[in-house]
Amino acid sequence: MTQPKASPTLIDPFQRAITYLRVSVTDRCDFRCVYCMSEDMTFLPKKELLTLEELDRLCSSFVDLGVEKLRITGGEPLVRRGIMTFMQSMSRHLESGALKELTLTTNGSQLAKYADDLAKAGVKRVNISLDTLDEEKFARVTRWGRLPQVLKGIDAAQNAGLRVKINAVAVKGVNDDELFTLTEWCAERDLDLTFIEVMPMGDIGNEDRLDQYWSLKDLRAEIETRYTTVDLPDRTGGPARYFQIVETGQKIGLITPLSHNFCESCNRVRITCTGEIYTCLGQEGKADLRGPLRESEGNAPLVAAIHAAIGQKPKGHDFDYSRQRADGQMSRHMSHTGG
Ligand code: SAM
Ligand code: SF4
Repeated sequence: MTQPKASPTLIDPFQRAITYLRVSVTDRCDFRCVYCMSEDMTFLPKKELLTLEELDRLCSSFVDLGVEKLRITGGEPLVRRGIMTFMQSMSRHLESGALKELTLTTNGSQLAKYADDLAKAGVKRVNISLDTLDEEKFARVTRWGRLPQVLKGIDAAQNAGLRVKINAVAVKGVNDDELFTLTEWCAERDLDLTFIEVMPMGDIGNEDRLDQYWSLKDLRAEIETRYTTVDLPDRTGGPARYFQIVETGQKIGLITPLSHNFCESCNRVRITCTGEIYTCLGQEGKADLRGPLRESEGNAPLVAAIHAAIGQKPKGHDFDYSRQRADGQMSRHMSHTGG
């Protein structure tokens, strides 16, 4: 069994301890959100994907190396066949104390089915993506998604005792007119809320990135036309910053990778469903972990490859919309690295 670690052993060249791993378990999804995928996405052949056993070995190795927080994502993680077996297996690291948090980012479509099992596997919090409360708009943004199904998923998660955070991508011309509706809806239902700035990830067909971009600075300024806000000191080592709405006590998160540099405190790395490690969401640099994983039954080649990859973690990203074009544009889709 994995033993709790006294100190993290994954330290990058900029002296940042890597304690947070995000793993995409599939590139497939039952939605086709306009900012994430094109409608006619081609998915990877199944044999390219890590098996559940390989995912288990990989995540467990990271836990052995000091990772304390594991987030499962995708594509849509809950459409991966056998995913609950994997989650139950990961819960052994929670029981041993090595892992402090096992969590999930989901579009919510399958939560009515899985919320109870997730809670049983030791998941305490989930992030659910929801950009709009308007049924027609929801269908337009997600193309294949249906709002009532996701609302049922949110209810199921709350009934199972999971703390729910809503992630809303701020998209101009889509949900800018729902700022107060969404915020107040979350306050009424005791849901945390974080807004995400659109990032230039992947070819999305005919959609234009600059048309979609709604600065979160403007978003906060709009909230301040109705409410008083104060900055909160909470940091998670990631791109989120928080403020509180004084009148309601509500905490709102802002993920602003484009307008704020958060890289100096970055504690995370990402793994794709094919076992590539990306040490920075906003850079193309990657390393293959599937080869070392498959090359030997023992974990030595894998651990060496992990150390080598962390040793190459870049200082930061280069996203920039300021010159009126989507600079730093990444060719891969968000569903590839999991956001
Ligand atoms: N399918 C799950 C979901 O939607 O929550 C997990 C994967 S999804 C890629 C993770 C997060 O990335 C979602 O909150 C989604 O809204 C966000 N996302 C996708 N494409 C994005 C983009 N281009 N810019 C900003 N956020 C994006
Ligand atoms: Fe699927 Fe999530 Fe991408 Fe939407 S954002 S298409 S739900 S992976």
